Amino acid sequence: MIRWSQQLIPTLREAPAEAEIPSHQLMLRAGLIRKLAGGLYTFLPLGHRALRKVEQIVREEMDRAGALEVLMPAMHPQELWEQTGRFGVLKEVMFKIKDRQERNLVLGPTHEEVVTDLVAHEVQSYRQLPINLYQIQTKFRDEIRPRFGLMRAKEFIMKDAYSFDMNLEGVERSYRAMYTAYERIFKRAGLRTKAVEADTGAMGGSASHEFMVLADAGEDGVIECDACAYAANLERAEGVGRGEKVFADADKTPAVVATPNRKTITGVATFFQTTPARLIKTLIYLADEKPVAVLVPGDREVNEIKLKRALKCAALALADDVMISKVTGAPVGFAGPVGLTIPVIADEKLQGYRGAITGANQADAHLVNVDLARDAQVGTWGDLSNANAGDGCPRCGQGQLVAKRGIEVGHVFKLGTKYSEALGAGYLDPDGQRKIAIMGCYGIGVTRTLQSVIEQSHDANGIVWPISIAPYQVEVLPINVAHGPTMEAALKIAAELEAAGFDVLFDDRDERPGVKFKDADLLGLPIRVNVGEKGLAKGVLEIKLRHTGEMRTAAPEQAFAAVQAAAAELRQAVTPA
Ligand code: ATP
Ligand code: MG
Repeated sequence: MIRWSQQLIPTLREAPAEAEIPSHQLMLRAGLIRKLAGGLYTFLPLGHRALRKVEQIVREEMDRAGALEVLMPAMHPQELWEQTGRFGVLKEVMFKIKDRQERNLVLGPTHEEVVTDLVAHEVQSYRQLPINLYQIQTKFRDEIRPRFGLMRAKEFIMKDAYSFDMNLEGVERSYRAMYTAYERIFKRAGLRTKAVEADTGAMGGSASHEFMVLADAGEDGVIECDACAYAANLERAEGVGRGEKVFADADKTPAVVATPNRKTITGVATFFQTTPARLIKTLIYLADEKPVAVLVPGDREVNEIKLKRALKCAALALADDVMISKVTGAPVGFAGPVGLTIPVIADEKLQGYRGAITGANQADAHLVNVDLARDAQVGTWGDLSNANAGDGCPRCGQGQLVAKRGIEVGHVFKLGTKYSEALGAGYLDPDGQRKIAIMGCYGIGVTRTLQSVIEQSHDANGIVWPISIAPYQVEVLPINVAHGPTMEAALKIAAELEAAGFDVLFDDRDERPGVKFKDADLLGLPIRVNVGEKGLAKGVLEIKLRHTGEMRTAAPEQAFAAVQAAAAELRQAVTPA
């Protein structure tokens, strides 16, 4: 049992203005964390207690799944990252330092290189495989926009696991084991998550899933089907367009129409009194420095991840105004595919577009009656645009897609042999043949998970902790600490609970009851025992459940059993099936 007066719980009445989302505000207000600098946070005792409980759940489930815990350095030789070619890709995001001998080091944003190097040295034979190594460790990323407290920090705790297998069936088994472990971890932490298909870079198929917490504060777009289980990150989601493709005057020849100052899709659509879907949006990109025209329907956004893959380029960026004028002959806002001499790549949802409207490649003018196949030279077709809410489902063909926001708390990924090949992680098979190990990697943002629980579980008065990760499970609250019998009864129940293994916070502060109740709701410990003079006169203690607000009463000698019963109910909610 800890007494409030001896604990460090600096609660705040108001959240600092910079905290934009509820979970960030509550972590500050309840005295769980404090900001050192942008993206850098200290865990105060209560925050740290909750964090340790999350870590322990992660650890137990990883161990249960057969993974082995290790601890790798946060600091890596830069050279190792150069060996896999990732220094070039991630140098922006990595913190780079030098030691006194001027050796280049980086602070690890992730550990594929380090773990693969380890396995390359320590695993020789098929007898040592499969193996899955994990750690719970601090990562460093120079994020463009650290924000929302622990959600996107410069320094954060990740659980990262890496599996090494001999064949594809083995990889599948390792992947499934981690997927199941993740479901159990999030359930035990009291978090509702949804596994969605995620982008896999070069690899296709269902080789990657992200575990998302659906929330308005989410930075990821999530698309799901309202009829089947299809769910994908917006970056990857495919939607079946259901809109029309043949518009009025489809058979006429293109004609230039003056559209002074109409540069945006909505501006042009309003001008022609038509829908954005009838417009063909034309964007000029530089793919490996070479200009290319990218066409998508006017009501869709270009998906740069899909575009990059379709163009098979290393670098992709929107062209600047000068380049746009050079290749289209018009100022920005009037580009169109007809008559362009640079390569044109079009979204497959534009196939069959007739009677469409595009920029005319002249200032203040658009082209109407465009038949894309007849009037333009499309070199490549591909899936280049985001799925939209309302699209048909690519999986079941029946349902309609719905758009949501999500926070990525975990990520499982079949990696293949990219790292094992580059760093020589192989083994001798039973025939003495040297083979390359096939990898999977599996991350959980431990600190992000902790904050996500609060984002998902709070009310107007404060946090509503799941019992599994609450800093303390029970708060004992003597209403008047100056009243002898109150203190006696409160200390007795607290001691009983403590002896039975409960984590107990004892609010011994000489404060007005209103202040203590408000703080208790803000802290959000699952079970509260109010001990007061009035109750004792009636022969009862009050047991308040934070998640429902339900108030139960029990005679002092029955209070222990009543708390135990309440705790058992709360544990049900965080027990995996
Ligand atoms: P994001 O897309 O949010 O930047 P990511 O896909 O780059 O994340 P991974 O490399 O998959 O992240 O890392 C594994 C997990 O680490 C993520 O699922 C997320 O929960 C967590 N994580 C990543 N970046 C941060 C960060 N800056 N702060 C806190 N947690 C993070
Ligand atoms: Mg990820």
